[in-house]
Amino acid sequence: MVPPYDQKKYSGVGAAIEYAVLHLKVENIVIIGHSCCGGIKGLMSIPDDGTTASDFIENWVKIGLPAKAKVKAECGNLNVTEQCTYLEKEAVNISLGNLLTYPFVREAVAKKTLSLKGGHYDFVKGSFELWSLDFGLSPSVSV
Ligand SMILES: [Zn+2]
Repeated sequence: MVPPYDQKKYSGVGAAIEYAVLHLKVENIVIIGHSCCGGIKGLMSIPDDGTTASDFIENWVKIGLPAKAKVKAECGNLNVTEQCTYLEKEAVNISLGNLLTYPFVREAVAKKTLSLKGGHYDFVKGSFELWSLDFGLSPSVSV
């Protein structure tokens, strides 16, 4: 999971992304979710009032709360296991969106020196999905 840009709360993640983009000059960042994900199950089981019982884990997976809301709204009729599969993918999309809150990521995507992709590895079915989101960024976009 990629949290939104926050120099105080998520400096470790920010440092890793900044180093990869500005110094290693990676051309692709692939965010990959996977089947039977414990983190996603944990996110799914956080009560609606948001109360948590752990020091770090639940606050970490809460990065995916907007994805959970989307899945509940669009797939609330499915069973929990099926909802989790959708959430495993939607949480990837949240992370992709959050990557764009890092100015150096946004700039590199706009310049097309970096591309962001989402993936989902289903190790039960033995399948791998790969996708990219069209962020509608062009080099002329001011960042
Ligand atoms: Zn997992």
